[in-house]
Amino acid sequence: MIDNRKCIGCHACTVACKAEHEVPVGVNRTWVKYIEKGIFPQTTRHFSVMRCNHCADAPCVEICPVTALYRRPDGIVDFDNRRCIGCKACMQACPYDALYIDPQNHTAAKCNYCAHRVDLGLEPACVNVCPEHAIVSGDLQDPASEIAQLVAREQVTVRKGEKGTDPQLFYIDGDAASLDASRTQAAADYLWSSQESGVGHFARFAEQRKGGRDGSPVGERRQVPPPEASAEEARRVYDAPDKGVLWGWEVSGYIWTKALSAGLFLAPFLLSRAAEASAGVWSACLGAALFFLALTGALLVKDLDKPARFAYVLLRPQWRSWLVRGAWIIGAYAILLTLLLALALSQWSWGEAMLRPGGAVALLMILTALAAAATAAYTAYLLAQAKGRDLWQSPLAVLKMFLHAPLAGTAALALASPWIPLPQGWIWLLAWMLSATLLLHLALLGLELTTPHATRDASRAAEFILRGRLAPAFWGGAVVCGGLIPLALLLGHTSSLFDLFGWALPLAGLLVLVGLYFSEHAWVRAPQWIRLS
Ligand code: SF4
Repeated sequence: MIDNRKCIGCHACTVACKAEHEVPVGVNRTWVKYIEKGIFPQTTRHFSVMRCNHCADAPCVEICPVTALYRRPDGIVDFDNRRCIGCKACMQACPYDALYIDPQNHTAAKCNYCAHRVDLGLEPACVNVCPEHAIVSGDLQDPASEIAQLVAREQVTVRKGEKGTDPQLFYIDGDAASLDASRTQAAADYLWSSQESGVGHFARFAEQRKGGRDGSPVGERRQVPPPEASAEEARRVYDAPDKGVLWGWEVSGYIWTKALSAGLFLAPFLLSRAAEASAGVWSACLGAALFFLALTGALLVKDLDKPARFAYVLLRPQWRSWLVRGAWIIGAYAILLTLLLALALSQWSWGEAMLRPGGAVALLMILTALAAAATAAYTAYLLAQAKGRDLWQSPLAVLKMFLHAPLAGTAALALASPWIPLPQGWIWLLAWMLSATLLLHLALLGLELTTPHATRDASRAAEFILRGRLAPAFWGGAVVCGGLIPLALLLGHTSSLFDLFGWALPLAGLLVLVGLYFSEHAWVRAPQWIRLS
């Protein structure tokens, strides 16, 4: 429990924690945030100690694919960096920005309540050092303990209770503007604000990205302030470095290649209901689906801070994590695709085999279609486990992720149509399927971004896409290049208006694929620009 009536903002807790755990420069397990309110000389300053809340229903534990984060029987949320693969999913899941990647060993770390001291009957280092007894630790279940009595007697508050994480860190006299990051602007002109440009681990992204040296769009936050922010209201005057974008182009790319892989099976599977395809066409589709699935795996591994530990996801899985479930779904899809490709390459009689009721190949095709659908859609559940990112909690996400598969698959077939001998009955149908899925995709994008959002953070992330720094890529890349122009080309193709040289269909396919990447990019990036602490 933090007693804000007593805290003097001396940072002794931060320093004691640094010393106890040898926390490197640039990252913190606990820190003291300062905000100010009012106009000089009528100003007040408020302190808030920030750290892990040891949530009773911890989303970081739920999303961790390898049980590197776990909740002890005594309620401490602890971690084991020997298991961590550096996927950063816990950092996306924690709504309180409590975790960081250790710049020295590249694994996740956070306040663990000094579990090693507690096991010896000692108090956490920050409690020990605080000169004001503003930090109280103890057993909330013991009614005789000081902390239980304070929580029962005083008016206490928690951070973001609406997230349903059941935080076990309580504040007496907690200041709402200080505890809720969205209520203060992250301007770049206050004392210590140079930290905003990133140090330690996060400085290594400095050269790669525009905006803040850590990749955070410093100017962007100033362009789109919280609606109620004004000079008279609360402003942060001391904070910790922004961690910036944790999942970059690799994750946008992985969602894109995964949709493409799933679609390269689902699209021919659906089209073959109308006209049978040759073994050659199937071989090309299955080979391409496998290629993009392999690329998906490669991007996933590349994004890890501990890529050599990737196998832990399969060998020591934590089954509630959709990272684990997704890895097994992708694995099953890869096996099914390989079997079908082997059959196709051996010149199996596809038409007869697929249509034969109860035939083994027909069953294999249906199983593969189910695996492809699951491969496309599971990411929506993974993103929903990332409770720190409000825009990803969209109820439309499953439908959107699934739809991207037939969209990408038909676009890829359209692009390849001049070079592979697609059945004649497919071409017309392909154009219509592509048009229909594209229209649905644009409608879902519009619904997701323009309908009222449940939280302020989700609205601000949508603002980044619609009117902020992502707007050129979104409107130019996803909507015009990837949506409106291909729709016009498809209309020209299906009505023979201007498809004189047969280029409309492949060009539309290419543009849809490019536009789809832009929309995944905006979707992945925007919520990560919202500060959580
Ligand atoms: Fe701590 Fe965040 Fe995990 Fe809650 S979700 S236990 S605050 S790291």
